[in-house]
Amino acid sequence: MRDFAGKNVLILGGSQGIGAAIVRRFSAAGASVAFTYAGSHDAADAIAAETGAKAIQANSADRQALIATVAERGALDVLVVNAGTLVLGNPLDLDADDIDRMIDVNIRAPYHAAVEAARRMNDDGRIIVIGSVNGDRMPFAGGAAYAMTKAALQGMVRGLARDFGDRGITVNSIQPGPTDSDMNPAEGPMAAMMHGFMAIKRHARGDEIAELAAYLAGPHGAMITGSMQTIDGGFGA
Ligand code: NDP
Repeated sequence: MRDFAGKNVLILGGSQGIGAAIVRRFSAAGASVAFTYAGSHDAADAIAAETGAKAIQANSADRQALIATVAERGALDVLVVNAGTLVLGNPLDLDADDIDRMIDVNIRAPYHAAVEAARRMNDDGRIIVIGSVNGDRMPFAGGAAYAMTKAALQGMVRGLARDFGDRGITVNSIQPGPTDSDMNPAEGPMAAMMHGFMAIKRHARGDEIAELAAYLAGPHGAMITGSMQTIDGGFGA
């Protein structure tokens, strides 16, 4: 385990799935961890009790609440923006408000959170967003808007890396492929179809994604910035 003792870490969207695994990883390494969630009180309480991390209810779609939450954590060492939603379906049938809500959480929130964090982030800080291999490859119908949100993060990461690089702050996207979670269960109805696109035909585990986040956040990640780190079992190959 890399040592994050004394590090101030905020994870947006940490009550479940990949985010919960990231909360566990940094907490186990001694960091002072806080995480947000939107509505899953019981799951958030359980992760907080298990790890000692602080749970904060703050909807990423609410810009004021999001910015206030980031600001209140003070000088961060690590910000992980994991909160994201998935709306799939025929674009001709999907509800426009649902698409706009996804854009709010998946694009607007990461940008505003990253900028707010950078205002008071410690030198050599780390900003990590959870994108998706779908930012590079969208091999089935119905995912256009989701893929758009994850592709947007790529431009953000490249640009902010240059904005904050003089302070040693790195900005990167982790791009998972299918990863076991409520959003994308390993036994779900789309699992076999997704495994068909992969070289390693299984869902990833949250702890595999969390370990990559820890690497990027640790001292050996200092020269990795403006990059997309894809961890997808070959989905995008
Ligand atoms: P889950 O739906 O299992 O968990 C999402 C987490 O984010 C929950 O803790 C949830 O809290 C929180 N969250 C969601 N919306 C908001 C919001 N508006 N405000 C605050 N918190 C919020 O998702 P995953 O773990 O599967 O996905 C995590 C990230 O990884 C997402 O960005 C997703 O797009 C990305 N990803 C996932 C893949 C997968 O196969 N699972 C593949 C590629 C990328 P609450 O429960 O309270 O709503």
